[in-house]
Amino acid sequence: MSGLTIALTKGRILQETLPLLARAGLTPAEDIQASRKLEFATNVNDVRLLVLRGADVTTYVRHGVADLGIAGKDMLLEHGSDGLYELLDLEISRCRLMTAAPKGQPPKKAGERVSVASKFTNIARRHYADMGMNADIIALYGALELAPNVGLSDEIVDIVDTGNTLRANGLETRELIAHVSSRLIANKAALKMKYAQIKSLEDRLREAVQG
Ligand code: AMP
Repeated sequence: MSGLTIALTKGRILQETLPLLARAGLTPAEDIQASRKLEFATNVNDVRLLVLRGADVTTYVRHGVADLGIAGKDMLLEHGSDGLYELLDLEISRCRLMTAAPKGQPPKKAGERVSVASKFTNIARRHYADMGMNADIIALYGALELAPNVGLSDEIVDIVDTGNTLRANGLETRELIAHVSSRLIANKAALKMKYAQIKSLEDRLREAVQG
């Protein structure tokens, strides 16, 4: 299949992605933010954009439905990088993946059991195993900050930017798991088949990031 399909992450990341793409010479043919459509043509004839949930971008790129994707590092850590290349750190949507617990609650020690609520269940499982702790991981997809306050979990693993959301809910940050920013990813086969086209966009995006 000719042409290039790029899977974008909607929401906060999209807002910072569009200006970067524009500086790299790629603009959607219509206003993405004002539309409910999920697929968009661009000013470049054979390049189209898909607008997806963050958790789905790696899936689309892994399956080759999209050649390229823009996804948070948190999604790459959670869903794995099999079949993908991470081409470029776009240095946008920076945040941290952290553990958090109620303010003042004594930290759990190695060897102790701890219950942890997170939507990043794989990341959380790996982190607590690395810390030598027995973690019961509880999958939650929203309002994570509530979990420790209602007794659902001892701790949470979540994205932290300013820390305001945690503080507003009586929580404090504990361990840093990873620094997060958005990355340009490519399907491995697509990179081989469409090398020149992908490389050219990667180079323009790199210049846009540096500029
Ligand atoms: P804050 O209160 O500034 O620490 O923001 C925390 C909340 O904002 C988290 O629960 C996240 O859901 C969301 N958030 C902040 N930064 C990002 C980001 N770069 N990507 C995705 N979600 C984010």
